[in-house]
Amino acid sequence: MLVLVLNSGSSSIKYQLLEPDSGTVSASGLVSRIGEDVGPGEPTIEHHGRGGEIVHTGPIPDHAAGLKLVFGLFAADGQDLATAGLAAAGHRVVHGGEVFYRPTLITDEVLATIRDLSSLAPLHNPANVIGIECAMRLLPGVPQVAVFDTAFFHGLPAAAKTYAVDAGIAAKFGIRRYGFHGTSHEYVSGQAAAFLGRRPEDVNQIVLHLGNGASGSAIRAGRAVDTTMGMTPLEGLVMGTRSGDLDPGIILHLERNGLDVAEIDVLLNRESGLKGLSGINDFRELHAHMESGDAAARLAYDVYIHRLRHYIGAYLIELGRVDVITFTGGVGENSSQVRFDALAGLERFGIAIDPQLNDVRNRSAHRISKSDSEIAVLVVPTNEELAIARAAADLVRPG
Ligand code: AMP
Repeated sequence: MLVLVLNSGSSSIKYQLLEPDSGTVSASGLVSRIGEDVGPGEPTIEHHGRGGEIVHTGPIPDHAAGLKLVFGLFAADGQDLATAGLAAAGHRVVHGGEVFYRPTLITDEVLATIRDLSSLAPLHNPANVIGIECAMRLLPGVPQVAVFDTAFFHGLPAAAKTYAVDAGIAAKFGIRRYGFHGTSHEYVSGQAAAFLGRRPEDVNQIVLHLGNGASGSAIRAGRAVDTTMGMTPLEGLVMGTRSGDLDPGIILHLERNGLDVAEIDVLLNRESGLKGLSGINDFRELHAHMESGDAAARLAYDVYIHRLRHYIGAYLIELGRVDVITFTGGVGENSSQVRFDALAGLERFGIAIDPQLNDVRNRSAHRISKSDSEIAVLVVPTNEELAIARAAADLVRPG
């Protein structure tokens, strides 16, 4: 069984062809800089297939052109998608609103609803829709499945998902906390429970997905009860370029002082977070700058850790009993310093990191807490593509 997974962003398409049961990936790649000015020799598609890497250079006018070229690269690599017998195409869709809370077979009606949800995710859903439309055209007869980033948080308790604003206004504009990165939180929490040899229903967990975007979740007995991202993926932790939590009065202040909505949008989504504080949004570079004494990089890091500890503390209290804390995402999987600083000095709360284990490089799930730590601390690599492929396969599998 083969599933094609597509993750379409505003100027990029990430893709993977994989076997959902074994997880074997037969090809993967990235189309980037769609619709941008690109010189003739500049790389825009990197395809990793059976025959190694193929790089396509030159401009990609739109998503349809990008996907068509990708299909050509698959064929050139001996894996013609039209004849590969695809069981499904799985699409990452960022916002499912109130409507979608499980993987969903895409019909024209479903697609129209995803499009309608664009007002809640203007940067993401329109790009997801374009990717789906292209795939439907290029792969007629292949079931297309949408897997929603918000789905895992659909059942958040009322107290966790409600903002304290006028209830009528909230209802009218869909203002509530939805949460994002749900596919990753669900997958990683499942892996963490399996690593401990326990059923998800028997475990209370905190999952920290720390990548370019970052979010945490509190999970009680397999169900998400809180998460740091809110109505949009802007709330919560400090991220590479996003501010995370702010006093909402700051937005009013900026507007009163002449910034318009588009400028504030760019400021908070693209020019804030680690980048806003230090000019650097890549964690590897941030570490290097801190080591060379860059005070702005140090402050950015300290603000990042401060916010992270704030939420860890909140979720410890919220859950009451926590069995495991898990780090995932590019930063969570790779930065031992972030993991150490996030949990340092919490022995009295039952959390004792083992510095040696924490420094071990290991690409599979592993434990980094001391054997007598009441709360286990794990590092678990996330794999959203595999989770999407499995969700799509489960939906179309006969019986
Ligand atoms: P993601 O969005 O999950 O791909 O994560 C991207 C982030 O992970 C970037 O900020 C990277 O700098 C960071 N990252 C990747 N590898 C490392 C590493 N070895 N040490 C620290 N941060 C890393």
